[in-house]
Amino acid sequence: MKNADCIFCKIVEGKIPSTKVFENDKVLAFKDLRPNASIHYLFIHKNHTKDVNDMSSIDPQQFVEIFAGIKAVTEKENLTEKGFRVVSNTGPNAGQTVFHTHFHVLAGEPLNGFGSR
Ligand code: AMP
Ligand code: ZN
Repeated sequence: MKNADCIFCKIVEGKIPSTKVFENDKVLAFKDLRPNASIHYLFIHKNHTKDVNDMSSIDPQQFVEIFAGIKAVTEKENLTEKGFRVVSNTGPNAGQTVFHTHFHVLAGEPLNGFGSR
């Protein structure tokens, strides 16, 4: 299912351009427009859900499919030894701005700013 007003659905449909780093029939990953690390990808499922709890309700298998994509990309790009971070912002306190469930994958340098309190 697609949501007509959703920018990430439009990226899936090719109506908005993106720099793709991974794609299969269910999952798409592309570079974040405003990167927060030297490597910053967004992983999404091609079916629209609005956040992680919505995805859990509708089809939790989508998590498995997305994390299989994250594994494929991080292994292919040799990011596993030095490590990477996966983040999914949910709601206003977390700063969610796009309401199509997505997982930020950050890598390529030491990632500060988490776990400091
Ligand atoms: P969040 O704030 O967690 O909802 O993350 C949304 C992310 O989407 C932000 O990091 C934005 O930089 C990114 N973003 C928004 N529009 C696009 C786009 N057209 N292509 C790539 N990344 C985008
Ligand atoms: Zn969407």
